[in-house]
Amino acid sequence: MEFVNGKTRTCGLIGNPVEHTLSPLIHNTLSGFTGLNQIYVPLHVETGFLEDAVKGAYALNFLGMNVTVPYKSDVISYVKEIDPVAKNIGAVNTLVRMDGGYKGYNTDMLGLFRGMQSEGINIEGEEIILIGAGGAARAVAFLCAMKGAKQVYLMNRTLEKAELVANEINEALHLSCVVPMKLEDYGLLPDKKYLAIQGTSIGLHPNVEAAPIMDPQFYEKVHTGYDLIYNPEKTKFMQLVEDAGGKSYNGLKMLLYQGVIAFELFTGKSISEEQANKVHDKMMKAMKQHE
Ligand code: NAP
Repeated sequence: MEFVNGKTRTCGLIGNPVEHTLSPLIHNTLSGFTGLNQIYVPLHVETGFLEDAVKGAYALNFLGMNVTVPYKSDVISYVKEIDPVAKNIGAVNTLVRMDGGYKGYNTDMLGLFRGMQSEGINIEGEEIILIGAGGAARAVAFLCAMKGAKQVYLMNRTLEKAELVANEINEALHLSCVVPMKLEDYGLLPDKKYLAIQGTSIGLHPNVEAAPIMDPQFYEKVHTGYDLIYNPEKTKFMQLVEDAGGKSYNGLKMLLYQGVIAFELFTGKSISEEQANKVHDKMMKAMKQHE
């Protein structure tokens, strides 16, 4: 964004905290690439002000918004319409302006899918281990089931949570592919090679020496490991996957593509993989500067 004038459209990120977000970098770079007169700003919203924030943004003619922690579920009460996929997941991270309010979408899940596609990682027909059953893992489990995974072993420290999520997804999609397991029972997994997705907060900076499973034997079963965490760039989980001969990826592309898809929804423009890769390089540089 070289300058702001009377015709500049505004988008923003609602959350608390928002101070370390990379979303302005993603969106403002894409505005530059597409030549749109549009700016994206962080919007710190205090507890209790979410409804005011959404209504205020609409009144102020904001084109669109992203929503982050802790408001992704609560914001559903304040949207005019909701995309069926976001409704199923129970979380909205993107608000797209429409007549009389905003329509809520979930681009986290679609972002992970596009990020995986760009790395050549398959979901359809795969046997998948998904570690975690929190907000992010729930969305990933939906994605895997919707995109035709053969089996999803949903492994969580608290078995009840994994059972709840697995039941919800199997019921919503009329499937039976999501199988809940207790994390410590990883030794019971059938002897095969899996795509393993790490969806817990274990290993996140500054606890960089931690992984949800430390046993090297587990990683013998993993052909590809995908960690939703992107800070550090290589998590302990990723290192353990590589030590056992597998390929590993971090969650930066997921973050990138949730932003790319939100930008496309806000503007109706399509972003090429080449443009997305340029944004990815800028994100990597920005993260290195903050180390
Ligand atoms: P969350 O809702 O708080 O879920 C946390 C999960 O981690 C739960 O399954 C929890 O298990 C498990 N967990 C936490 N501490 C544990 C421990 N000591 N031992 C075993 N399990 C433990 O978090 P979230 O919002 O889903 O986010 C999870 C991660 O995804 C975060 O690191 C976040 O940065 C990342 N993420 C990345 C992107 C991206 O764009 N790349 C987007 C969203 C999230 P219990 O159920 O047993 O408590």
